[in-house]
Amino acid sequence: VPFGARDVSREEKAPLVREVFRSVATSYDVMNDFMSGGMHRVWKSVTVDRMNPQPGHHLIDVAGGTGDIAASFLTRAGERDPRGRAPAEAVVCDINHAMLDAGNGRDHAARVCGDAEKLPFTDGMFSHYSIGFGIRNVTDRAAAFREAFRVLRFGGRLFVLEFSQPPTEGFRAVYDRYSDEVIPRLGEAVAGDRESYQYLVDSIRRFPGPDDLASEIRAAGFSRVKYERFTGGICVLHMAAKI
Ligand code: SAM
Repeated sequence: VPFGARDVSREEKAPLVREVFRSVATSYDVMNDFMSGGMHRVWKSVTVDRMNPQPGHHLIDVAGGTGDIAASFLTRAGERDPRGRAPAEAVVCDINHAMLDAGNGRDHAARVCGDAEKLPFTDGMFSHYSIGFGIRNVTDRAAAFREAFRVLRFGGRLFVLEFSQPPTEGFRAVYDRYSDEVIPRLGEAVAGDRESYQYLVDSIRRFPGPDDLASEIRAAGFSRVKYERFTGGICVLHMAAKI
């Protein structure tokens, strides 16, 4: 267990509470599917491809929620190490206990409650850092990127997956219309919660474009910053290295 970290997986929880959290996570997963038309699975899968997980690698998945990126990372690394001689490791770190609890037991990743802006880990522990659909919710992004840099070892790599706005004018118009007219209504119909979905749309609009985000990542000390757009640019993966 990392220094100073609290391993929630060791906590005893009443089965009833667990069940409640599981249903929260289930509706959360459904919401992800529904927001992205199932595409988030593909984007995460490509992200894990880019990570190229190998035996001995150590991932921290920040704002990891129920931990699907970490699970896929461990599975792929395990495929390269059938005898399990140098198992890869992963930690799912999230500020929300309920999300961690909901994912606990689905895979072999450790679960640690912590804030992206102040990670409860010592310097240079990890080979990979990922944050999937989480950086948009972080208040002080510069602090989060500095923390990512700190907890990565030399040669370690950063992966930031986030919604974005399509660069092409025509597609952007369609996407804006979908965002304004379809998403909040669907949110209301499916989850009975128009406001949360409106917030999601607004937060994606306020979020910096890929070039600006790349500059923020560089400012934290990272090199070789690049990005890849997915699905016409509605999602972007930034990658960088600590070298
Ligand atoms: N990465 C997961 C995925 O792609 O399914 C979860 C994404 S979810 C949209 C955002 C997550 O960020 C939530 O689980 C939330 O608790 C977490 N979060 C928000 N602010 C955070 C912070 N400052 N530090 C760590 N986690 C945070």
